[in-house]
Amino acid sequence: MTYISGWAARGARQKLEPYSYDTGPLGLEEVEVAVEYCGLCHSDLSILNNEWGLTQYPVIPGHEAVGRIVAMGDQVKSLKIGQRVGIGWNVNSCMHCHECLTGAHNLCSKAEPTIIGHHGGFAERVRAHWIWAIPLPGTLEISSAGPLLCGGITVFAPLIAFGVKPTDRVGVVGIGGLGHLALQFAHAWGCEVTAFSSNLAKAEEVRGFGAHRIVSSRNSAEILKVANSLDFLLVTVNTPLDWTSLLKTLRPNGRMHVVGAVLEPLAIPAFELIMGQKTVSGSPTGGPAVMATMLDFAARHHIAPQVEHFPLNKINDAIAHLAAGKARYRVVLDHVDRTDFGVRSI
Ligand SMILES: [Zn+2]
Ligand SMILES: [Zn+2]
Repeated sequence: MTYISGWAARGARQKLEPYSYDTGPLGLEEVEVAVEYCGLCHSDLSILNNEWGLTQYPVIPGHEAVGRIVAMGDQVKSLKIGQRVGIGWNVNSCMHCHECLTGAHNLCSKAEPTIIGHHGGFAERVRAHWIWAIPLPGTLEISSAGPLLCGGITVFAPLIAFGVKPTDRVGVVGIGGLGHLALQFAHAWGCEVTAFSSNLAKAEEVRGFGAHRIVSSRNSAEILKVANSLDFLLVTVNTPLDWTSLLKTLRPNGRMHVVGAVLEPLAIPAFELIMGQKTVSGSPTGGPAVMATMLDFAARHHIAPQVEHFPLNKINDAIAHLAAGKARYRVVLDHVDRTDFGVRSI
C-alpha cells in the first residue's frame, strides 16, 4: 500500500491534524506531484467549514499546489518525471463531453474538485489527471505561483471568455486575493483600470497593482460619479454591495461579471439591465488550456500574487490569519521542510 501524509480536518471548524491516507494504485492517466508550495484560498475555508454542503471529511485542503512530478501512469502524455507543474481547483474531468472537447473542462458536469472527495495539496504529494497538471513556465517565480492556479485563473479566464479588449475600461470590485491579481492582469491587458475598494487607506498599494483610479465600493455617491464609464466590471467580493449603483457604472452593452461567491442572492433591478442592454454573468476558474495561457501571460508580464509565507506545520495559524481577513494578499504554505508532515509516509 502507498500512503500520502498531509494535514486534514475531521469535521467543520476543527483544526487540521497530521493525517495519512492510502492512495490505492496510481491511475494510468494520473500523475503524482511532490508539493513544494500550496496557496491557501478562501474556498479552502468554505470547504473546511462545509459552507457549501459539499465537504467530505476527513479533508486535506489545498488546491493551489506547485511541485514536481514524481510518478506517472503509462497513459500520461506530454509530461515527464521531474517536471514542475501546478494543480488548481480541479484534478479530473470526463474528457469526452462537449465541454471537455471544447476546452471548457472546468464546466464539465463530471469535473472532480481537488478537495471534494479527493485529498488536496496540504500534503507531501497530490494526484491529478495529467490534463489538469499544468506545466509551469521556467521564468515563473514558483514560491508565489500557487495563487495563480485558482485565484489567478478565476480573474483571467473572463478576459478571454468575454473578449475584453485593450481599449476597454475595466472595473475590479474588491481588492483582496482575487482583486489584486485582476488589477495586474487587466493593466497588462492594456485596459484602463478602476479599482473599487472598501479600504481607501491602501490606495498607493492598489495603484501599484495597476489601478488608474480608485473608488470607494461602500459609498454609492462616489460609485455614481463614475457612472456610464466602464465596459467590463469584475466583482471579486463575497459580500453584498450596492449592485444597482455598480451596474450604473457600465456603458451600454457592458457586463458585470461575478467571480466572488456572494452567498446572498444578487438583487438586480431589471430596468438597469434593459436600459443600456447590460449583462450579468459568472464563471468558475478556467480550463487547462486557459490556465496554461494565463501562466504564460503572467510570466511574460511579471504578474505575481503578493503573498505571505507560512511553513506547512503552521497551517492552522495560516487559516486563522486568512479567516481574520488579515492576509495581504494571499497566503502560501511552504512544504520545503519535509518533517512538517508529522506522520511519515510508509
Ligand atoms: Zn467532461
Ligand atoms: Zn480557490
